[in-house]
Amino acid sequence: MKKTQVVICGAEGRMGKLLVACAKKDPALALAGTVDSGDDLNDIIASADVVIDFTTHTASPALAKIAAAHKKALVIGTTGHSESERALILEATRGIPVVFSANFSTGVNILFYVTRLVGELLKDADVDISETHHTKKKDSPSGTAKRLQEILEAVRGRDVPVHSLRIGEVVGDHTVAFTTPDERLELTHRAIDRATFARGALRAAKWAVTQESGLYDMQDVLGLGK
Ligand code: NAD
Repeated sequence: MKKTQVVICGAEGRMGKLLVACAKKDPALALAGTVDSGDDLNDIIASADVVIDFTTHTASPALAKIAAAHKKALVIGTTGHSESERALILEATRGIPVVFSANFSTGVNILFYVTRLVGELLKDADVDISETHHTKKKDSPSGTAKRLQEILEAVRGRDVPVHSLRIGEVVGDHTVAFTTPDERLELTHRAIDRATFARGALRAAKWAVTQESGLYDMQDVLGLGK
């Protein structure tokens, strides 16, 4: 079996180190190279099938441009992009398969799916989103909370508030609460180990190399309807 060759960008970071460790353990993957701040992706991209970006929002547009110029698939886990950074990424990557997801955990993607469903079933309930992460997280609200907000605002046609907390070492908790005058339904996901994101991103990388050009997310990788 031919192994999928991955390049990991942001390899010295919290997620990057896990991605490297998980990729080395996966018999279907080979590590074609790693990149961190100060390295040039152009130097090692030739041997890759797919580039994985877990860096920082300002770095993603240039990495996306290089992946597209070399016709390599791309997996983007980095969050916190501005509108203009996101537009640059989408513009650059029209000719390649891209999996762009604020959260690569299976449980969170099921939460996205169930949130849409409950949002439709409980249209009249008040709804709010709360999220808690470790104190080193740079963006707030989290990309996952923003995605939940987007899903709910599309279903309900009105603003949905997000509350963010930054505490200690919390890996990532998200709760969507639906409240009526006499009951409250809460959907909660807690990430226990960051490896869940790394394994999900590597699954997305193996999937991306089999896809036509286009923009996908983890729900596509998991085959969850939207
Ligand atoms: P981190 O700060 O620990 O690591 C980021 C790494 O990227 C650092 O080593 C930094 O030197 C490197 N970097 C910065 N600019 C670079 C560039 N131009 N080229 C190459 N490398 C560069 O952060 P982290 O906790 O590992 O998270 C990384 C990103 O992934 C964040 O945006 C975070 O929110 C996101 N994240 C996403 C998911 C998901 O499932 N999508 C899960 C966890 C974290």
